[in-house]
Amino acid sequence: MKKNALVSLPLLLTTLLSSSFGLSHDGAKKVEPMDSEGILKAFSWDVDSAEIKTQTINENFHVLFGVGGNIAVSIGSNGVLIVDDQFPKLIPKIESAIKKMGGGKVDFAINTHWHFDHADGNLALGPAGTWLVSHSNSRKMMLDDHVINLVAVSYDQKAYPKEALPIITFDDRMQFHFNDEQVDLLHVGPAHTTGDTAIFFRGNNAVHLGDVYNNSGYPFIDAGNGGTLDGVIEFCSAVLSEIKEDTVVIPGHGPVSDYDGLKNYIEMLSTIRDRMMSLIQKGATLNDVYAAKVTADWDKKMGDNSGFINRSYMSLTHRVVDR
Ligand SMILES: [Zn+2]
Ligand SMILES: [Zn+2]
Repeated sequence: MKKNALVSLPLLLTTLLSSSFGLSHDGAKKVEPMDSEGILKAFSWDVDSAEIKTQTINENFHVLFGVGGNIAVSIGSNGVLIVDDQFPKLIPKIESAIKKMGGGKVDFAINTHWHFDHADGNLALGPAGTWLVSHSNSRKMMLDDHVINLVAVSYDQKAYPKEALPIITFDDRMQFHFNDEQVDLLHVGPAHTTGDTAIFFRGNNAVHLGDVYNNSGYPFIDAGNGGTLDGVIEFCSAVLSEIKEDTVVIPGHGPVSDYDGLKNYIEMLSTIRDRMMSLIQKGATLNDVYAAKVTADWDKKMGDNSGFINRSYMSLTHRVVDR
C-alpha cells in the first residue's frame, strides 16, 4: 500500500500539471486571438482610469508609468524625446505629465519594439506630428497583422495606418544628439522580438531596454514572431557591457533597475537556459521541462513560469509549431 502510494504520487502530479496547463502535446495550447479590448481586460489594464506616475531620474530625465511599457522622457533645449508611448487614450495624460515637468509637444518617440503596449500610442502621436523612430524590423512588423501568442492568451495586433508608422528606422546603431547628450540606439539581433532597440542616454547615464529586460516577472519571448531566449541573453549581455556600474537601467515593465539587477537577470536566464538545454539534449518534452522545475530558484520572486518556459522551450528547440 505504502509502495503504491509512493509510485502514484509523481503520476498524480504529472496528471495535475498536464491538466492545469492544458498541455497534451509539445505545442502551446492554442487560444483564440483576442482583440484590443479583450487583451486589455485580460491584463486588467484599464486605459480609461489609469493614472500616469512619474519618477524623476535627473532634472530633465524622467520615467513615466501608466498602462503598458515604461516610458523614458528627455526634456530640454531641443524639445521632448520619449521612448515608447503606451496607448492612444493615455497620450493626453502623458502629455500633461510632460507639461508639468516643463516640456511641450513630443518631438520624437522611439519605439523599443512593435508590440501594442509599447507602440499603440503612435496612433495618436503620429497624426499629431511626432517623429516616430524604430528598428527597421519593428516597422516591418507594424505593416501587417500579427498574432502574438502569449500562451495563456493571444492577441491579434492589427497593421498600423501610415500615420502611425515610424518614418525613421535603423538597422544596427543610430545616434541622436539631443538635449545636450548623445542618445545611442542599439539593435543586437532577434531577442524579445526581431526588432528590439536599447536606447542609451549617455549624458543621463541611463538605458531603456524595452521588453528584452522585464523586471516584473519572467520575460515573455515572442517565439511565434522570431524571438529567442538565447537572443535575450545576448542582447542583455551586449547592453551590460556598454553601461557603467552606476547606470540607471529602465526595463520594459516593472520598477527602474540598475547594473546589478540586469546582471542578475542575465545570470538567471543563462542558468535556466543551460538547465533546459541539457534536458532538451536528452530528448525532454515540454512537459518534462515543466516537471524538472528548472526555474524553482526564482519562482517565489518571479511568479508564474508557464508562459516563459513554453516560449523558451519553443525557441530553444526551434519548434514554433503554432506560431
Ligand atoms: Zn511589453
Ligand atoms: Zn513586448
